[in-house]
Amino acid sequence: MGILTARTRDEIAAIVSKARQDGQTIGFVPTMGALHAGHLSLVKLALEKCDFVVVSIFVNPTQFAPHEDFDRYPRMPEADSLMLAEAGASCVFLPDEAVIYPDGKDCAVKAGAAAKGLETDFRPHFFDGVVNVVSRLFDLVKPDAAVFGQKDFQQLQVIREMVEALGLSIEIVGAPIARDESGLALSSRNAYLSSEELSVARRLNKVLLDAVQALRAGEDQDEVMAEAAQALVSNGFEKVDYVRFKPEWQRVLAAAWLGKTRLIDNMGL
Ligand code: AMP
Repeated sequence: MGILTARTRDEIAAIVSKARQDGQTIGFVPTMGALHAGHLSLVKLALEKCDFVVVSIFVNPTQFAPHEDFDRYPRMPEADSLMLAEAGASCVFLPDEAVIYPDGKDCAVKAGAAAKGLETDFRPHFFDGVVNVVSRLFDLVKPDAAVFGQKDFQQLQVIREMVEALGLSIEIVGAPIARDESGLALSSRNAYLSSEELSVARRLNKVLLDAVQALRAGEDQDEVMAEAAQALVSNGFEKVDYVRFKPEWQRVLAAAWLGKTRLIDNMGL
């Protein structure tokens, strides 16, 4: 069977309720499109958990600040849909803004404690925007399980907290980070990078690995983090937003800039 396409509220509701009537469980993978093997690994996980897998593609305006890359974010829904069909997804949901935000973009649901620090220090609007769109998407798709990548580790914690706070019975599944052969975390934003920038980007995961190994060896946290920040700069990153060890998550997380492109990555101890 080919992949189903939904664009409106009525279409997604009809498709999901038909699957339910057929006794199928619903898995959900929210994305912003420009899909790569990382996204497809989430689809694969969702298919292992659930019978019927919906993938949404929506570049969500509320998680971008005015100066960020909303306008130039890559959009290729036809190619994405083909990839999803091949990966065995059941339905691609392609809403436009009016479908997600029919009555404006205000949202009563706010990001919780997991949103404090890290990304929020640099993108204060970001997690409220994520929670705004994901809570709306959950309401439309009503999944049994939803898969999110550990690539956006803080986001995964924010979503878990939101589901808990709203009392939703949706299982949140965290998927491992998909990397290329150099270890670079796959990202739709990698498409922005020039070949010189790409070779710098490929050093980010090595710096994280060095930091993780130093922490495992019992070296001083502050020193290791200072060295990691220094290593990013000397490897060619133009600006480091943060590189930090988060003890609750036993993880080193980083965000750094190459030209106009902001990359994030993280690694567990
Ligand atoms: P995005 O389209 O970038 O908003 O990402 C959609 C989902 O895919 C999020 O849950 C991301 O964490 C996840 N994702 C993106 N890149 C990767 C990757 N390299 N490995 C695993 N998951 C990823």
